[in-house]
Amino acid sequence: MSLSRHIPYRRCIGCGSRREKNEMIRLVRNASGSIGIDTKSLQGRGFYLCSDLDCLNTASKKMRKNAFLKSIDLEGLRAWITRKKGKQEDGE
Ligand SMILES: [Zn+2]
Repeated sequence: MSLSRHIPYRRCIGCGSRREKNEMIRLVRNASGSIGIDTKSLQGRGFYLCSDLDCLNTASKKMRKNAFLKSIDLEGLRAWITRKKGKQEDGE
């Protein structure tokens, strides 16, 4: 397979660094108005975050100054990242 593929990069709303899209968590606003993890590839304005609690903490500090980001489901995200991390550690 020598097909060259464009790898999309996205900027993390936490640390601000750019990473490959598929390494990141995509966040979207759902029907109830809160921003959570996009598991269904929903359309709309998306945000990207490294799957890293440090980035989530940084993002949560920024959120206080940003009305839009304020509606992020912080607890849900924190639980999700923690769970994902646990799985990775089990597998190694
Ligand atoms: Zn980050």
